[in-house]
Amino acid sequence: MEAGLVSALAKSPDATLAVLEVDEKYLPAMLTATSARVVVLLNLSRDQMDRAAEIWMLARRWRAALAAAPGCRVIANADDPLVAWAAGQARQVTWVAAGQRWHDDSWCCPNCGSHLRRDGEDWYCGECQNRRPPVRWALVGNEVIDPAGRARPLDLTLPGRANRSNAVIAFAVAEVFGVSVTQAMDPVRQVRSVAGRYTQVERRGTALRLLLAKNPAGWLEALDVLVPPPVPVLLAVNAQTPDGKDTSWLWDVDYRRLRGRPVFVAGERKLDLAVRLEADEVAFWMAGSIDEAVEQARSPSMDVIANYTAFQQIRAALGRAV
Ligand SMILES: [Zn+2]
Repeated sequence: MEAGLVSALAKSPDATLAVLEVDEKYLPAMLTATSARVVVLLNLSRDQMDRAAEIWMLARRWRAALAAAPGCRVIANADDPLVAWAAGQARQVTWVAAGQRWHDDSWCCPNCGSHLRRDGEDWYCGECQNRRPPVRWALVGNEVIDPAGRARPLDLTLPGRANRSNAVIAFAVAEVFGVSVTQAMDPVRQVRSVAGRYTQVERRGTALRLLLAKNPAGWLEALDVLVPPPVPVLLAVNAQTPDGKDTSWLWDVDYRRLRGRPVFVAGERKLDLAVRLEADEVAFWMAGSIDEAVEQARSPSMDVIANYTAFQQIRAALGRAV
């Protein structure tokens, strides 16, 4: 948000480049305030709906803001119909096939409201001209396909499809700054952790791996990269202002795949999570803290999925070793 971005910029007043991760609600204002040279749009899904607007309204605001910024190059995920529509009136767009795992916010055409048709990765509206734009970069399995059609294996250190998508988008951004995929590949492969996410840390004989998930789309990605059973999982949810006060999004996550493994729930809203797991017939234990879960699980390893402030609390409890 604005205050955080201002304080980040103030720390390096002489920097010639800044990379700012911007809350979706603040993108139009930041675009005006910074005259950004490049805007990168990966996906758009419901999040913190008590303070952000409904998702189609956000897409409309992005679309108007990007149309009014002709000097800005947009790097956008063509596989997300909401993102494609939001970037659809921008003057300069690099389209990337970065994939879309979460479809539940884009079953309908943002242009006319009809049902979108899907055919593999392709999507199109049967009622208007809205369709997936042709792409310059693509993610196919574990490979990036560059603009010349060459395929290269990604072999990232970070797990999961979401990080492969991020990597392909990063190559498209690097290209704008004159950095080739060959130059960018090794640094991208070497990323092990992002602000504590995916970090592994030892706690009382248990190797913990930390995964951040803030909304249903993020939980879907996090559940995909879990180590298979019987490795236990700790889920922690808070509902402070940065998380969004409304936890009803928990009902959009399919927790059934957690059945048959030890599950611990923690965080300030662990009762909300408990009710949700009960409905999905997932057995669980309540934990007062991460140490309590580690103590009860007595396992060589454990995955931890937490939303924003719960994640920060866990990092603090682990002594910021992560
Ligand atoms: Zn349409």
